[in-house]
Amino acid sequence: MPLQQWRSLERKALAHLIQRWRTGFVHQALFPPICILCGSRGDGLDLCAGCRADLPWNKTACPRCGKALSIATLCDSCQQHSPFYDRIVTAFVYQAPVDHLLRTLKFHDRLAHARLLGELLAGCLATRADPLPEMVIPMPLHHTRLRARGYSQAMELARPLARRLGLPIVSGVCHRVRATTAQTSLDMRARRDNVRGAFAVTGRDRIVGRRVAIVDDVVTTGQTVNELARVLCQAGAREVEVWAVARTPQ
Ligand SMILES: [Zn+2]
Ligand SMILES: [Zn+2]
Repeated sequence: MPLQQWRSLERKALAHLIQRWRTGFVHQALFPPICILCGSRGDGLDLCAGCRADLPWNKTACPRCGKALSIATLCDSCQQHSPFYDRIVTAFVYQAPVDHLLRTLKFHDRLAHARLLGELLAGCLATRADPLPEMVIPMPLHHTRLRARGYSQAMELARPLARRLGLPIVSGVCHRVRATTAQTSLDMRARRDNVRGAFAVTGRDRIVGRRVAIVDDVVTTGQTVNELARVLCQAGAREVEVWAVARTPQ
């Protein structure tokens, strides 16, 4: 390519960067972040430093299933049965106000909550020493539920998370082929049976030999993510992690 053409391209790229910076600066000045919990000025996000510190962070948990414990050690359940996923990482214990933020995201279209919670979860993952997986896969919704809701909360959470971590979102490689009953109404055994065969992988070539992270809003017993992890491993994924905003206390 001639030198002049290179210079023209460089000038365009620089102008584009300056434009993005100015737009971001103006947007920040006109619409400063406001804490969605108390209405004070946000600290970079839509959350103030005080409310951020008070959130129910899942600080010590089982390194495998993410269950909140008083010390970070393999829990009894993981010692007895190895799940198909390699680990579950969650930012919070499913308690106030995170439970409310997730419920209103899921059932009342509060998509701004996904941006905030996705950023907070990304913050927990960005500092870790281990290499990150190669892609994120939002937990698939059954098409009837997707049609009724109009959006997938897992996809909404995956967007800011993937952007911050510089990972691609890979959707459409696995599907929920069976609408399942809400897990909360079932006991442990019934939960496992309820999700058995709920997922199918159609994009096998994109995950064979790859390290993937499933993104979900909340993990309760882990049966649903474990079933998806089983199907992904069966299709050839090398490692499956689960990243969720919160885990219910057990
Ligand atoms: Zn606040
Ligand atoms: Zn465990």
